[in-house]
Amino acid sequence: MSQNPSLRERVRSIPDYPKPGIIFRDITTLLQDPAGFRETVDLLVAPFEASAVDKVVGVEARGFIIGGAVAHQLHAGFVPARKMGKLPWETVSAEYDLEYGTDAIQIHTDCIARGERVLLVDDLIATGGSAGAALDLIEQVGGSVVGCSFVIDLPDLGGSAQLRERGYAVSSLIEFE
Ligand code: IMP
Repeated sequence: MSQNPSLRERVRSIPDYPKPGIIFRDITTLLQDPAGFRETVDLLVAPFEASAVDKVVGVEARGFIIGGAVAHQLHAGFVPARKMGKLPWETVSAEYDLEYGTDAIQIHTDCIARGERVLLVDDLIATGGSAGAALDLIEQVGGSVVGCSFVIDLPDLGGSAQLRERGYAVSSLIEFE
């Protein structure tokens, strides 16, 4: 993990959104900046350039924007991990815990061939619930996870540490408390 000041200052922090006490890290200000978006994608790609990635999985919705650009640069295919009920073909689903209740994501059963090398990408990791569910789905359909790449890590929430404990290579560009 390298703290990247030029990227960090392009993330907008919004206090009390979506509810009191939460600081929302808004990456739209990073994405709308041409140099910021390019540098973000280049830095996410760099650790995995020699990893022969076949598929990039992006988690709905900001993971689609970042993951699509990363997949293009790695000459890999792109796979959307979507919220329940959005994918039109046969799916596998995984639930994960939210602060109150649960949520679930899905991928198509045929989106990854057995043994294909897969990179998971999202804008931000907090508790790791959504990333953990996406990793379970990738492995359920036979993918081999080469790593997980996030723009922002909130390490105090423990998600990145949990993924590392599970044996995954985790990289991120910016940390916030
Ligand atoms: P986790 O499942 O607890 O790790 O939460 C990560 C997911 O929630 C990612 O898909 C993020 O897009 C979203 N998320 C949580 N907090 C923020 C935030 O402050 N800014 C942007 N996205 C967030």
